[in-house]
Amino acid sequence: MDRVVMYIDMDAYFASVEQASRPYLRGKPVAVVGSGKRTVIVASSYEAKRFGIKTGMTKGEAIRKLPSLVFVEGRNNKYVDTCVRIHEILLRYTPEVEICSIDEFFADLTGSLLLFPSPADVAVAVKREIGEQFGITCSVGIAPNKLVAKIAGELGKPDGLVAVEKDDVERFMEGLPVESIPGIGRKMGAALKALGITLCRELRDFPVSVLRRRFGIWGDYLSFMARGIDPFRAQDPGGLPKSIGHSMTFEKNIGDRMMIRARLLELSEMVARRLRKEKVVAKGFSLTLRYPDFTTFTKRITLPFYAPGGRMIYETVTALLDSVRLKDAVRLLGVSAFNVRRFAANPSLFGGLDREERLWRAVDDVNDAFGECSLHPATTLLCARRHWVISPAYRPHKSYPYRRQ
Ligand SMILES: [Mg+2]
Repeated sequence: MDRVVMYIDMDAYFASVEQASRPYLRGKPVAVVGSGKRTVIVASSYEAKRFGIKTGMTKGEAIRKLPSLVFVEGRNNKYVDTCVRIHEILLRYTPEVEICSIDEFFADLTGSLLLFPSPADVAVAVKREIGEQFGITCSVGIAPNKLVAKIAGELGKPDGLVAVEKDDVERFMEGLPVESIPGIGRKMGAALKALGITLCRELRDFPVSVLRRRFGIWGDYLSFMARGIDPFRAQDPGGLPKSIGHSMTFEKNIGDRMMIRARLLELSEMVARRLRKEKVVAKGFSLTLRYPDFTTFTKRITLPFYAPGGRMIYETVTALLDSVRLKDAVRLLGVSAFNVRRFAANPSLFGGLDREERLWRAVDDVNDAFGECSLHPATTLLCARRHWVISPAYRPHKSYPYRRQ
């Protein structure tokens, strides 16, 4: 049976959720931001996008562009909760649903097509259910693989439904600009343009040996993707994240090393929690510092062993910090883990997980049930509570307790 994949992506997700739950925002240009002074725009409604309001803009930039823009503080719990409930809806159509970010899902319909007239019928039903339950729209792409499904979904935005049959894939890809391929950003787009390639057709016909010389293994991937073949399919289910990181921008620059350490502890625990969720361990860690003049500096280290938890990550990044002479106070701190491998449960001779590991699992459970940061290390109380908005790449854990409101 031919594989059928459906990609579902909410339109202007955070902003749509806000407009749906606060009727006075409907039809207005809305930008979702964090609560700090230095927050940037994390999402904007279509009314705002029309005026060039983009994710990543500062409030000041945005107001200059569109004085009537309405700012709304983001509510993480609401977005995570809606995501989990959309996931539930999709699970009614197929057990094979992958949450790929807080507002994007892949649903493999191959096995469930005997139960439904056609993939498009499923898409229409899903769109209707999401619309009725949450008052938001989404775009859907249907194709023989995830790559083409995603491209099709993006093409139909907003509120679209684009289905590509197996035999039409090449034709569908031909006329698209290379930037429609996920992973080809502005930089790669420019590099391809330098080779005279702007359309997928040109990329497809370009000698792969030249692409390989220029881009390494990515040259092969590019050539496949231009034909609508998903080169990552084999890695799909167990695909390991390349790196896992968190960063914070501060309202006031921090010059005090004690305070920086307290933040690093918080960031290290956040990274450790993500690693546990993904069931991976890492041995590479990096510390990123950004100064008020925006110069950014990253120092990395690879340990000879895989770090067992947040404490070790914290010790590693503070050692990196200690090796640096700060030239100024910092406005942003980041901690990332890389060089990851699957975590194989490693019970010690003396009975199961060690104490620290058990403690952090319990903390994870509490935070899963009562919300992120319900429990956190006391040292982080040194810092004023920070307000943050979830990153769009955030993925709720599969076993997130389904909370009803
Ligand atoms: Mg979206």
